[in-house]
Amino acid sequence: MKAYEWLTRAQKEGFALGAFNAGNIETLKAIVGAAKELSSPVIIEASPGEIEYFGLQELAATVRALEKDYQIAIILNLDHAPDYESCQKAIEAGFDYVHIDGSKLAYGENVAVTRRVAGKAHAKGLLVEGEMDAIGGSSADLRQQSATSRQQSANYTDPKRALDFVQATGVDTFASFVGNVHGLYQGEKKIDLELLKRIAGALPGKFLSLHGGSGIPDDQIRAAIKLGVVKININSELRVTFHDALKKTLEDKSTKDEVAIYKITPPAIEAMQKIVEDKILLFGSAGKM
Ligand code: 13P
Repeated sequence: MKAYEWLTRAQKEGFALGAFNAGNIETLKAIVGAAKELSSPVIIEASPGEIEYFGLQELAATVRALEKDYQIAIILNLDHAPDYESCQKAIEAGFDYVHIDGSKLAYGENVAVTRRVAGKAHAKGLLVEGEMDAIGGSSADLRQQSATSRQQSANYTDPKRALDFVQATGVDTFASFVGNVHGLYQGEKKIDLELLKRIAGALPGKFLSLHGGSGIPDDQIRAAIKLGVVKININSELRVTFHDALKKTLEDKSTKDEVAIYKITPPAIEAMQKIVEDKILLFGSAGKM
């Protein structure tokens, strides 16, 4: 099944697909290991920084090889693409889905570039996600800060404007801002479920994504899925888990002198896989393959 069919099925059956960021082979192994273990489809996505590190063609080829080896469905997404050219390259490299993020542009420019990407992607049967109100924060370890100040400095999405944007651009998926800042903060993030409900009501027939999935409490995630969210982006929790597990291996007395890379990374892969498995179970996509 392609991206459209998977998201349609998620919408009908009331589950969400995890969209997990990966910029290295260790994170990819963790994601596909979890998806295989739980018979779940997954979205694997990479930001421009992650793509620059891994290589666009290299990522596409590796993901397709893993999909075949592990016999699971993978939707490959370009996350937060800043311009038309990067979307075009990803589409030509075989990505299934592109998220064009023109939220930092003037509204009219955002509409123009998003519409242009949608035209290109739709001609190939691919899906496009658009963003209007910059989601803010960054996928980092921000556990010394509270999410509140970041949330307060961002624009919460207005449902009526969201409808105008979706109609003007023709995107398939809308990325709203309802308090879901990127990053892992001190304490839990609180998202505005009432507003999310109004946005969902204003956009019938469209898919809704939820960025900034790290650190959103389970009950709010479940409620967001009930309101129609079908794609939930997770990055920071994987990054922090990788960092902490690797640090432990490099500092532990029994492993600190190991230099074979393939013996250093497995605990970090296992720790990330556990996070992905927990998310798949929470999002309800287990057993859907
Ligand atoms: P987190 O880093 O908060 O998980 O958000 C990831 C994301 O939204 C990627 O687009």
